[in-house]
Amino acid sequence: MEELRNRAKQLLEAKTVDVVIGYGETLNNKIKAVFIRKPEDAVKLVYDERCTQNLGVYLTKHEVKHFGKPAIVASVSTMRTVLQLCSEKQVKDDGVLVLGVTLEGKFLEFPTFKTVETFMEKGVQPIPAKDLELMAKIETMSLDERWAFWQEELQKCTKCYACRASCPMCYCNRCMVDYNQPQWISVPSTEIGNLEWHLMRAMHLAGRCVNCGECGRACPQEIPIHLLTFKASEEAQNQFGAVAGLSSTMPSTLSSWKPNDKENFIQ
Ligand code: SF4
Ligand code: SF4
Repeated sequence: MEELRNRAKQLLEAKTVDVVIGYGETLNNKIKAVFIRKPEDAVKLVYDERCTQNLGVYLTKHEVKHFGKPAIVASVSTMRTVLQLCSEKQVKDDGVLVLGVTLEGKFLEFPTFKTVETFMEKGVQPIPAKDLELMAKIETMSLDERWAFWQEELQKCTKCYACRASCPMCYCNRCMVDYNQPQWISVPSTEIGNLEWHLMRAMHLAGRCVNCGECGRACPQEIPIHLLTFKASEEAQNQFGAVAGLSSTMPSTLSSWKPNDKENFIQ
């Protein structure tokens, strides 16, 4: 942790970056995101097992961009987020400095996104065992059972949109669910409206989700909605060989094509 604090201080003193996005402690010892702009405040940075939030969500926020060039304390999920955001033209290679923390807790600074890509070749963050277990259980269900499972889960949704707010890949200025002319999705939390919202969300994240699990952690109703986008990622990999967040130049999975794609309409 001292290494991280010292490096953040140096970077701010040298004006290499204008802000360090990292983790700090609240007064009651909880973890929160902090935006360190003065070298003397670098001592407020912490990093331990409580630091699970994907801080990549702040890279596209207007309020944070306003500070200037950021350095970001990045878990492996956050590193994947940075690469995926770059592939979607939301951040630039020389616009973010990655202060990475490996799965073993080792601090590593990445001068370019190419060096992050090389690091990713060693492997990404594993999906937690309890998620793998539930995914496997859902796979064994019949279509009717699966439908019933998701209907039961999604009826708990209160449409608070914490999942959307916490997701680094949900960066549209205005989400489709907030439009009322035309009204695409019903505003209240209803059976059909909840299904519409979650199907729309999963499709918009298909092939883009970096499997950080933040949406599931953010859900106050404890709905395992991250499994929908995990599954969509798995399909993107199986069908198109596309894995989000490994390359800063990967073309968009759902809006790119090749002349030899199997669909007839392309030929
Ligand atoms: S796991 Fe959830 S929060 Fe993380 S990128 Fe995927 S959809 Fe977004
Ligand atoms: S965080 Fe949970 S309750 Fe809130 S909109 Fe998302 S799924 Fe629904």
